[in-house]
Amino acid sequence: MMGQTQKPLEEILKYLNGRRKIVLMGCGGCATIFHTGDPEAIDRMAEALSKNGKEIIAKIKLPFGVFCCYLPMSSQFLKMHQKDLEAADAILMMSCGDGTQAVRSYLDNEMGIVKPIFSANNALGFVGEGPANFIEKCLGCGDCVLPETAGICPLTQCAKGLLNGPCGGTTPDGKCEVDPEKDCAWLQIFRRLEKIGELDKFAEIRTPKDWSKATRPRRLSVEPLDLMAKLKELKNTLVSMGV
Ligand code: SF4
Ligand code: SF4
Repeated sequence: MMGQTQKPLEEILKYLNGRRKIVLMGCGGCATIFHTGDPEAIDRMAEALSKNGKEIIAKIKLPFGVFCCYLPMSSQFLKMHQKDLEAADAILMMSCGDGTQAVRSYLDNEMGIVKPIFSANNALGFVGEGPANFIEKCLGCGDCVLPETAGICPLTQCAKGLLNGPCGGTTPDGKCEVDPEKDCAWLQIFRRLEKIGELDKFAEIRTPKDWSKATRPRRLSVEPLDLMAKLKELKNTLVSMGV
């Protein structure tokens, strides 16, 4: 998921300077997990902005599981708030930059609502684990080497992002020379390859990545989901879990 933190209020107020009527929109995906776009975070932001002279004309709260970057669902909420969005001086997105831009694009191109739109959050890239502690696992390089490195990503777990390691600086107790608090990623890769009987992969030389394959923006085309079928699946799963 996309790790994120909220920007300082002073920075948000700077963007909103001279704009009074504000629509807040959260996200029921990653921003809910990181408390940067859940309904409570929206209420806190509304209170803080109100104290600073802003009029919150709508709070678009997406329920958990509804991501603002996934327009087939989030657009339903945008349409429900068409009048508020038209009346707004600015829209403050409590999501990552992905969600902010998906919504901006939909408003501009599908609803004809061209407004100043700001992200209240700073996105930090992919992180995993939880529920409280998360760590970067993948930077989306587009050419995954995990099958060769025992399921440990050297690009994110090695402080130098080495594709062939270790660097020679591993400490005698197996820590990283850059960060003595952290285990050397390449020592971990070596130990795990050994455990799974694939140590021969350790000696293979991995050639430099072809970053030209990762030109931006990346684009993907897939068969659209059958949304109603997926929602029914989700409902059945929740019922089976006793929710
Ligand atoms: S090699 Fe690392 S950064 Fe690249 S896709 Fe695999 S996990 Fe992600
Ligand atoms: S000590 Fe290990 S984790 Fe640290 S930079 Fe060198 S190879 Fe990477």
